[in-house]
Amino acid sequence: MEHGQPLLESLSQHFGFASFRPGQSQTISQLLAGHASLAIFPTGSGKSLCYQLSALHLPHLTLVVSPLLALMQDQVLFLQSKNIGAATLDSSQSTQQSQAVMQGVRSGEIKILMVSVERFKNERFREFIRQINVSMMVVDEAHCISEWGHNFRPDYLKLPDYRKELNIPLVLLLTATATKKVKLDMAKRFDILPQHIVQTGFYRPNLDLSIMSVSEHDKLPQLLQLVRAQRGAGIVYVTLQQQAEQVAKQLKASGINASAYHAGLKDDLRTTVQQQFMANQIQVVVATIAFGMGVDKADIRFVIHHDLPKSIENYSQEIGRAGRDGELAKCTVLANLDGVATVENFVYGDTPERSGIEYVVAQGLQEQVNGKWEIQELPLSKASNIRILALKTLLVQLEILGAISAKYAYYADFRFKFVTIESKLLSQFDSTRQAFLKQIFAHTQFKKVWGTVDMQSLVQSGADRQRAVAALDYLHQQGLIELESKRMVQVYGVNQQVLSQPELVDNLYHYFKDKEQAELKRISSMLRFFELSKCLSANLAYYFDDSQVPSSCGHCSVCRGQVAKLTQSNVRQMPDDDALRAYVFAMQKHLRQGDITISKDTIIRFLAGVTTPFISQYKLKQLPGFACCEGLRFMQIADKVNQLALGV
Ligand code: ADP
Ligand code: MG
Repeated sequence: MEHGQPLLESLSQHFGFASFRPGQSQTISQLLAGHASLAIFPTGSGKSLCYQLSALHLPHLTLVVSPLLALMQDQVLFLQSKNIGAATLDSSQSTQQSQAVMQGVRSGEIKILMVSVERFKNERFREFIRQINVSMMVVDEAHCISEWGHNFRPDYLKLPDYRKELNIPLVLLLTATATKKVKLDMAKRFDILPQHIVQTGFYRPNLDLSIMSVSEHDKLPQLLQLVRAQRGAGIVYVTLQQQAEQVAKQLKASGINASAYHAGLKDDLRTTVQQQFMANQIQVVVATIAFGMGVDKADIRFVIHHDLPKSIENYSQEIGRAGRDGELAKCTVLANLDGVATVENFVYGDTPERSGIEYVVAQGLQEQVNGKWEIQELPLSKASNIRILALKTLLVQLEILGAISAKYAYYADFRFKFVTIESKLLSQFDSTRQAFLKQIFAHTQFKKVWGTVDMQSLVQSGADRQRAVAALDYLHQQGLIELESKRMVQVYGVNQQVLSQPELVDNLYHYFKDKEQAELKRISSMLRFFELSKCLSANLAYYFDDSQVPSSCGHCSVCRGQVAKLTQSNVRQMPDDDALRAYVFAMQKHLRQGDITISKDTIIRFLAGVTTPFISQYKLKQLPGFACCEGLRFMQIADKVNQLALGV
């Protein structure tokens, strides 16, 4: 294409930018010289441009894997505004729309295609990509690939395999936060050489960092004082959804223009809050970590952590949203040890029991028919007592070990209602099609307006499932019916030999145990970080393997001479032995009615107040003993349960 043209010229011609930002030109030159690369730049510093510009100089398609639909759509609009052929393939599209995109990719009109990682699970998508020449695979938010990272997404682990399977020569990984371990882990998985890791300075001279040791009781007055001292926009981070509501209410009651934001709110309300914050109609957003990705407001003047963040990585990303305009911004953590047990218990709740893993493996062997195993995540999660995220991790591990392989997914249930009356709808089609549609409608059970398609009987009557789904999709696209699809079924191929290896379950169990320990270590490193007696800015940079930072910044609480010592304001008491016995007895009685046995793990989680699929399913939260040990360390509860020989 435009080979030989200086990159700077291309930058201004295509994007209208006058100069490169740090790291961009090095990354792009490396890629164009054919070297797989990893770029680590802070949020907002222009990582996307590295692939956007490179894509224009590479001969074939650039395939971008991105974690969030909204982010993909933003990028595509940006590229289209620069007259660059870009599109997404995503689940919101109709069959026609996605076919048009695939056509554009085949013809070369589309240079940049953005997809979610889940798309790769679809064998047909992989088949499509196999037929296309792909120059480069880009993985945005690439730290999701590392189990040692803070936002591990199991499906990302399969990307190195897909890259090989699809023969994609070049790869670019993008992330804002990676410790040395995560960095090397990512590079190794994609065969990136150390000299091709481009990392720009992490240090932000305009961020003023403070750690304040505050008792639970003093948090609200402290928070009010901090917020009142500020004019500009700010974010207050909390751990739980109900806290977001509560703290926002308290701020409002004190005359502060604040609003809550969390994943429990309706989509449109969330969008409104975000828009009003962007437009300065709301001064303070009180948010869970759901608020962040995609929030691109340059003049955020303060970020306050009302509760402990989940990790140093989370802390760094969350404060990184402040002061993007380069002006002073204040970042304060209101810290104590009261919440530590809660944060730790989240981690313990994610580790499957050995018996749960055993159950899943046995299901794979029993349920497979002709080497195919159909899974619905929710029921499997309930039956195995493994949380959804951990179950996904388990399935990916089984894939990596070669025990199973993802084939495709489909929706098990379809229901629809007529928008146009049936006779008028049918009259629009020729007689063959009419006959087929009539066959579908005959196998649909209507209750008032909505009808559920009985796929099984339809297929038994001789109809082809895929053709029926395509027909319903078509009617929906034409606005003739309103169609809803439910219950996603994942289909895996099974390798019996690998899946029945005797050591498999133990290996998987140890994998999860190691992960648990790594997560716990992450929490204790964070606590140590908050109590440091040396410059916070410098140590934050060191944590991310960046030494381009002054050894004392002069704008953090430690440099101001205030070393934080975190305390526990409410020391929790363990209920006495008789009370514990009574609680566990009541739980056993409750469950015995259903003739169900309980494991020791479940008892510990029940007492600690950690929800698992089993605990939700049998409504154990309603019992008086649930969470009676909340606030105590998990190990302490486990010791007690052992000592009293509960549940054996
Ligand atoms: P990141 O992914 O690193 O958080 P983005 O790629 O979203 O950041 O870029 C942030 C903003 O910076 C975007 O609006 C982008 O257009 C802009 N940008 C990127 N590179 C440059 C540049 N060289 N000059 C000016 N603006 C740039
Ligand atoms: Mg980005």
